[in-house]
Amino acid sequence: MTHHAKSSPPWDAIIIGAGASGLMCALEAAQRGLRVLVVDHSPKPGRKILISGGGRCNFTNLHSSMDNYLSHNPKFCLSALHAFTPWDFIALLEQHHIAFSEKKEGQLFCDNSARQVVQLLVDQCERSGVKWQLACQVNGVKRQGEGFLVATNQGTYLSGALVVATGGRSFPKLGATGLGYTLAKQFGHAVHPPQPALVPFTLEEKSYPQLNALAGISLDVIVSLDEEISFQEALLFTHRGLSGPAILQISSYWQSGRSIQINLLPHLSFFDHLIAQKSHNPKQSVPSLLNTLLPRRLAQWIGQQGEHPHKRIGELSKQQIQQWADRVNRWQITPGGTEGYRTAEVTKGGVDTAELSSKTMESRRVAGLYFIGEVLDVTGQLGGFNLQWAWSSGWAAGKALRSVVANPPQPSYS
Ligand SMILES: Cc1cc2nc3c(=O)[nH]c(=O)nc-3n(C[C@H](O)[C@H](O)[C@H](O)COP(=O)(O)OP(=O)(O)OC[C@H]3O[C@@H](n4cnc5c(N)ncnc54)[C@H](O)[C@@H]3O)c2cc1C
Repeated sequence: MTHHAKSSPPWDAIIIGAGASGLMCALEAAQRGLRVLVVDHSPKPGRKILISGGGRCNFTNLHSSMDNYLSHNPKFCLSALHAFTPWDFIALLEQHHIAFSEKKEGQLFCDNSARQVVQLLVDQCERSGVKWQLACQVNGVKRQGEGFLVATNQGTYLSGALVVATGGRSFPKLGATGLGYTLAKQFGHAVHPPQPALVPFTLEEKSYPQLNALAGISLDVIVSLDEEISFQEALLFTHRGLSGPAILQISSYWQSGRSIQINLLPHLSFFDHLIAQKSHNPKQSVPSLLNTLLPRRLAQWIGQQGEHPHKRIGELSKQQIQQWADRVNRWQITPGGTEGYRTAEVTKGGVDTAELSSKTMESRRVAGLYFIGEVLDVTGQLGGFNLQWAWSSGWAAGKALRSVVANPPQPSYS
């Protein structure tokens, strides 16, 4: 990959961020003949793509629809998702012979490595003439005539359009910063407070003593939040609290202080089961019955939490049976917090979409300014939806960008 020389001509578009959305935007714009410079402070493009899906990149979900996204403006994502669909990304992979498979419920993963996706995007960008300025610190951006000046530690660049593709705040060790939010505010856009999402919960030892002894146990559960929203997927006990797909999903909807409900036996009404056991097996205790239904260490832990662990099922009142059933089918947990941006897969909140075009991602306040990808207040559920949003929004902006070379702005950065 060649870095671009400092004495640059005016660019049609500068894209800040060589992640999923920035690469897609650069590719689409450059294929249409635009002169595109991609600036990133990371030394390599697409680092988050490389680690996505455990290195296999869950690059899309066939069922992507607005229901899979959280936003203060839920319909905003529709236009771009319809214009560049999962099938459009699939066509790109197929054209370049990248093998993939559906894991479950429309989630598509590379058979080999996420590296292939990055390589494909970078190669195609380079063939189309995209230039890079990597390991490049952005010091500031300012309006210059009808264009933009981007001041960096490697020089000042002038362009007709500016695309902010800097992603969210999650995974700071891979280069995430709040630059996108700062730029949005600078140009008068509102920003919904960013928060970690798709993130494990932490539990406080004093509320859940010795729960960390369950670390490593995984089981299929239904996790819900006030019965408004629920997910049936795997839950994983960790040394710090709870993780696994079910927890990551619900974390995006959770607010501090709220409790979640976990159904540890989604296929069984434990109440009905205990009532039946009361006549069929009255001498058994609840903990020993739980041992046959749940992973052993979990069964023991739940057994210790009950008020009458040694009572035989035959001796339990209906109310006591209900208490046991609630502990298993409606276990209430109040997370102490989340693991935060360090491990969050995504950032919810972000640039308010009300003043952007949903068709082109262009600002209605500042002509030529675009926001794409995770920096926006559009957050996908787990399962390939976030990358699909990056592709769709990046493509939409890439298609809308126009050449300004006929009327370049003149530099006057001081
Ligand atoms: C561990 C993990 C696994 C994931 N797995 C999946 C998955 O399998 N499927 C899925 O759909 N989604 C997944 N995601 C989410 C997905 O990777 C992101 O939503 C997506 O990459 C967002 O694309 P983006 O272009 O908006 O931002 P990013 O891909 O994050 O790119 C932003 C770019 O901007 C650059 N940048 C940031 N600040 C600055 C600055 N100040 N100056 C210059 N450059 C800057 C960064 O270096 C980066 O290159 C995963 C995320 C994580 C953390």
